[in-house]
Amino acid sequence: MTPASLPVDPFDLVIFGGTGDLAMRKLLPALFHRYLGGQIRVGSRIIGAAREPLSDEGYRAAVSVALGNASTHTSEQRDAFLDLIGYRALDARKDEGWDGLAELLAERSDNIRVFYLSTSPELFVDICEQLARHGLNQGAARVVLEKPIGRDLASANRINDDVGRVFAESQTFRIDHYLGKETVQNLLALRFGNALFEPLWNANHIDHVQITVAETLGLGRRAGYYDRAGALRDMVQNHILQLLCMVAMESPSSLAPDAVRDEKLKVLRALKPVDANNAAQLTVRGQYRAGASDGKSVPGYIEELGDGAKSDTGTFVAIKAEIGNWRWAGVPFYLRTGKRLPERVSEIVVAFKPVPYSIFEGSAGTLAQNKLVLRLQPDEGVKLWLTIKDPGPGGLRLRHVPLDMSFAEAFGVDQPDAYERLILDVVRGNPTLFMRRDEVEAAWRWADPILAAWAAGGHAPRPYTAGSWGPSAAVALIERDGRTWHEGED
Ligand code: NAP
Repeated sequence: MTPASLPVDPFDLVIFGGTGDLAMRKLLPALFHRYLGGQIRVGSRIIGAAREPLSDEGYRAAVSVALGNASTHTSEQRDAFLDLIGYRALDARKDEGWDGLAELLAERSDNIRVFYLSTSPELFVDICEQLARHGLNQGAARVVLEKPIGRDLASANRINDDVGRVFAESQTFRIDHYLGKETVQNLLALRFGNALFEPLWNANHIDHVQITVAETLGLGRRAGYYDRAGALRDMVQNHILQLLCMVAMESPSSLAPDAVRDEKLKVLRALKPVDANNAAQLTVRGQYRAGASDGKSVPGYIEELGDGAKSDTGTFVAIKAEIGNWRWAGVPFYLRTGKRLPERVSEIVVAFKPVPYSIFEGSAGTLAQNKLVLRLQPDEGVKLWLTIKDPGPGGLRLRHVPLDMSFAEAFGVDQPDAYERLILDVVRGNPTLFMRRDEVEAAWRWADPILAAWAAGGHAPRPYTAGSWGPSAAVALIERDGRTWHEGED
C-alpha cells in the first residue's frame, strides 16, 4: 500500500451543513469511497450537523439515498458505513445543541477532530466561536473552509481573522477541490519527475498557456450565491489561479506543504496588475442569452433568475494574464471560464513555440505547435501533441497526433474524486493541497482591481448565446495575438 492509501487514524468529522447539497452530493459519497477503499477504520465517526430536527436514523436514511445504488458495493458495506454516521441538530447562531455535540465528541477524545464548514461563510464565525466555547478547537482539531473565502480582499480578511481567532493557521484547511484532481497532481509529477519538460518550461520555448474551465450548466439551484459572485469570483480567483500557479511555479525544494505553497504565492504576487488602465484590453465579460444546450432550448441568465430580474453578473470571463518574472516574461496565460458553454471541460494547454525553421516542402502540410494538454475533466488525462510523418507511401506528409494517456484507460475507470483525497489529507494533517491565507489574499489582490475596473467602466457584460464559446470579443482577445483557443481537438 502506498502511504496515501494507508488507513488514516481514527477521526471524528463534523460536517456543519451536513444536510446540504455539497455534503450529500460530494462529501459523504467521497467518504464512502474511502471507506470502501479500506482507509477509514472502525472507531471513526461522521457527524452531520444542521438545524433540521433529524434523528441519527433519519440522517442515515438521507445519506443512504445520497450514496445511490452503485454496483460497486454490497448492502452490508453500505450499512457498515452508515453505522459510522450520526447527526446533531443545532443552529450555528443559537446555543442549543452544542453541549450535546461536545459530549458526543468527548466520548472519543483521542480521535482527530475535523470540523468541515459546509455552510454559508456568514456562519463561519458563529460556528468557530461555539467550537471555542466548548474547547473543541484544542489538540488535534482541524477546520475546513469551503469556498468562497470572501467576495473581495476585505471580506476574505474578515473571514480569515474570525476563523484565525479560534484556529491557528496550521489547523486551517482552505479547500480548493481542483488541487485534489488527479491531473493537477500529475502536473507536479510531469514537471518535476521528468527531465524532459523542465528545460523547455519557460518563455524561451513556451508560446502561451490556456486554462479553460467550461460548464454546460446554467444557473442551477445556487442562483442567489452565483448572482452575487459571478464567474471571476466563482472560478478565476480560486480554481483557475491555483491551476495557473501549478503550471507556473518554480520547482519547490520538496513537497513539504510550505515549500509548495511558498512557490505558488510567488506566482500570485508576480501576476501583472489588470486594472482600470488595461481591463478593457485584457478582459472580456459575458452573460448568456437564450440558446441551446445538449440539443435542448435553454433560457437566458436573466430569465433563469426570474421575476423580471436585472443583473450585470458575468457568467463568462476571459482574461489575458501575464506573470512578471524571468521565467514567464512575455508569455500570455489566456484564462477563460463560463456557464452554458458548448461542453463541460476543464483543461490546461501549454503551447510550445514553433520550430525555428521548416525543412519541409509546402506539400508536406503545415507544421503545428507542440501542445501539452492536461485534461482535468471529464476523462482526466494528458496528451502531448506531436508532429509525425503520416504513415504509408506517397511522400512525406506531416500529421499532428497526440501521445495520449487517458487515466481511465491506463489505470481503470474508477479515479478517486478530488474530495476523497482532500478530506483524508485533512485527517492526516497534510495541508500541501490547501490554500494558505497569504495565497488567498494575494489572489484577491489581483482580482479586486479587475472587479473595480468593471464596476467603474459601467459596461454591462457582453451577451453570448447559450451553447456558444462566449462573446465574440473572447475570440478576438486571443486571435488578435495570432493564436486560437484550443477547441474541438480532443
Ligand atoms: P446548501 O445546500 O444551502 O446547504 C447549507 C447547509 O447549511 C444545510 O445543511 C443547512 O441546513 C445548513 N445551515 C443553514 N443555516 C444554518 C444554521 N444557522 N446553523 C446550522 N446549519 C445551517 O449549501 P451547499 O450547496 O451545500 O454549500 C455549502 C457551502 O459550500 C457554501 O458556502 C457553498 O458556497 C460552498 N460550496 C458548495 C458547492 C456545491 O457544489 N454545493 C461547491 C463549492 C462550494 P439547515 O437549513 O437544516 O440548517
